[in-house]
Amino acid sequence: MSDSSPHSGSHPAAEQALSYVRAISPYVPGKPAEAVAREFGVTDIVKLASNENPLGASPAAQAAMQQAMPPLNIYPDGAGFALKQALSKRFGLDPAGITLGNGSNDCLEMVARAWLGPGRKALFSAYAFAIYALATQEAGATAIEVPAFAPEHPDMPYGADLAAMQAAIDADTRVIFLANPNNPTGTWVDRDALVAFLDAVPSDVVVVLDEAYTEYVDDPVFPNGLELLPRYPNLIVTRTFSKIYGLAAMRVGYAASHPALASIMDRVRQPFNVSAQALAAAEAALSDDEFLERSRLANAEGLAQLTRAFADRALPTIPSRANFITVDVGHPAGQVFQALLREGVIVRPMGGPTAKYDADGRVVGLGHHLRITVGTDEQNRRVIAALDHVLSNMAETA
Ligand SMILES: *Cc1c(COP(=O)(O)O)cnc(C)c1O
Repeated sequence: MSDSSPHSGSHPAAEQALSYVRAISPYVPGKPAEAVAREFGVTDIVKLASNENPLGASPAAQAAMQQAMPPLNIYPDGAGFALKQALSKRFGLDPAGITLGNGSNDCLEMVARAWLGPGRKALFSAYAFAIYALATQEAGATAIEVPAFAPEHPDMPYGADLAAMQAAIDADTRVIFLANPNNPTGTWVDRDALVAFLDAVPSDVVVVLDEAYTEYVDDPVFPNGLELLPRYPNLIVTRTFSKIYGLAAMRVGYAASHPALASIMDRVRQPFNVSAQALAAAEAALSDDEFLERSRLANAEGLAQLTRAFADRALPTIPSRANFITVDVGHPAGQVFQALLREGVIVRPMGGPTAKYDADGRVVGLGHHLRITVGTDEQNRRVIAALDHVLSNMAETA
């Protein structure tokens, strides 16, 4: 909790910050490679912690960005006209229903600023993307975390239980967040379940369908939020250039919705929230089909490689259709994470700083899980070998 931080507590002005803001535990990002090099003196680091594209960025985007090197004294196009036109053409969207964000994270926060506040509720599944809880809390609203499917569920362990979410909607529910596929589990909902859910949600409740990883799914029957927009005027679909497009450093994403919702989001949007270079890079990346296809194929192969390796070692994995896989390593995730850092491998420990256990000694939640981004063949081998080494050391000392 931030109250124990050395930078708050005894500072009179800091104490005057909103109580629900002071109660926030800040987002913990993936550990940067430079930090690991500094702390452990290791080189040749493999970072598979933040679901970045291991192939880099679209070459077309890199070229466009360099060519578009804008006059630094001129503000970018605050309306993002060219990128909205490109998105509109590519996906058949009404440009008036597109909201650009400084990463799609920015769009999620616009939704929270516009629709959430004290006395209002946001609803999401257990194991949902961490930002939903943060955005809800910073708006002073109440987060309702709906229990997910049990770890023993035959098809979708840890997946979002849409029937339970539907049952949890009440008169104060204003926003529902749902990622498909979800991070950090990789789990998904299919089209029939999603449509049945959207049909049941009252039309004055905003549903945010976060499709940050949808481009990795190569399945014609997988739900496409953009195609559902005409049917559901309360739907906001968010997508990002940070994942398959390989532009995480540029910070650019978007929301697509009915223009009436876009017009609301626009009121709480910073005027120049997307930089000129990010606009140019995103526009070029959007039509680099060769890079997209290459990224999708490499991911499918890498995901199969990691899934097979963990199955061979009897380490249970959560079904994933994203660019990462979440695996039960049978030990507290934080410990395994730390040991892997010494091997120069950065992954993401789940379930908080320390694992929790129930009365029978069974781990609660994802306390024994690591989320591992799919890397190149060589990176995947490195992480598997390092994990073998770490787990055999732990078995010896146990
Ligand atoms: C990575 C991610 C995002 C995208 O974040 P950006 O701000 O666009 O970089 C959004 N939602 C989920 C579920 C994610 O994992």
